[in-house]
Amino acid sequence: MIRTCSRRKTSRHGRGILPLIGLLMLSLSAGCTQSDTNQTTTPQQSPQAQEATSTPSPQSLRKIKVVTTFLPMYMFTKAVVGNAADVEILVPPGTEVHEYQSTPENVKAIATANVLVENGLGLEEFLDSTIKNAQNPKLSVIDASKNIQPLNEISPVEKTSKKEEEHDHEHDEKSGTKAAEHDHEHAEGNPHVWLDPVLVKQQVANIRDGLIAADPANKATYEANTAAYIKQLDNLNSEFQQTLQKTPSCTFITFHDAFPYLAKRYNIKQVAVVEIPEDQLAPADVQNAVNAVKKYKVKALFSEPGVDNKLLTSLSKDLNLTLRSLNSLETGNTDPQYYFKAMRDNLQTLETACQ
Ligand SMILES: [Zn+2]
Repeated sequence: MIRTCSRRKTSRHGRGILPLIGLLMLSLSAGCTQSDTNQTTTPQQSPQAQEATSTPSPQSLRKIKVVTTFLPMYMFTKAVVGNAADVEILVPPGTEVHEYQSTPENVKAIATANVLVENGLGLEEFLDSTIKNAQNPKLSVIDASKNIQPLNEISPVEKTSKKEEEHDHEHDEKSGTKAAEHDHEHAEGNPHVWLDPVLVKQQVANIRDGLIAADPANKATYEANTAAYIKQLDNLNSEFQQTLQKTPSCTFITFHDAFPYLAKRYNIKQVAVVEIPEDQLAPADVQNAVNAVKKYKVKALFSEPGVDNKLLTSLSKDLNLTLRSLNSLETGNTDPQYYFKAMRDNLQTLETACQ
């Protein structure tokens, strides 16, 4: 079954297939030409660094309790913390974060926590009321997306392409609800910043700074662990740059609007988001998608791991595109190193699809 996240997120933009949701402009390609050949050689440094900094100390006797919202926040927090604090996750991996409803256990967890780490940008809609119910005046909340400029997947089209590509956006403009949705998107931004390794560096640094403020006794540990993880993120970023610069402007379609940050960073383009309805695709929807594929020379249609949907399969045949799987990391393994494995799998998928 399709996860509700994907269906619901895309349905905010109307029914059927939208020919263009996020035509992302070319990002700077000049910065994509680094040639450091040592960049892929140190993926195992972070665990060792964590070991080195997690030796028993007086502080470990009174560990603070940190709750995180969903998988990426758990992984990044755990990477920063090592064994210096207790880290919990509110949204169990495998449970949909976009539509999540909090449980009484979540309220209890926040009520007894010192720190809460959230992605922010409107992702964790369940959080406001849950925090209120927890009534924990000592709780400090870390917004991992602090100082990150959110992308709006619609505004680039509106601002930069409306005149030249008016014809293509007729479908968008016809809907009376569009204006309100645009306002909403501007207010919240797209939350999927964790799929851009460079923005994850900022998220990890935000988590580090918040933890140091809440638990200064473990400052050195948080700093060392963060530095090690950021080094791994730098390596990952270099791998993405070096690989995807070979296929500039590679264009793809998804059914989950999760990849605009990744696309912008590496000069590829997410041109359309396909809504997968419950029953069947209307012929006009299929035709719109076919037109988008032709016009933008779309190379790939991406689903997600664990998603098996007959409509997607049939659409991929109509579009004459191979259906591949990109991981949005909203579910998976909780090991901080899983981030790098999943992202390298994504890179391989993109490389193959974009050839
Ligand atoms: Zn999502």
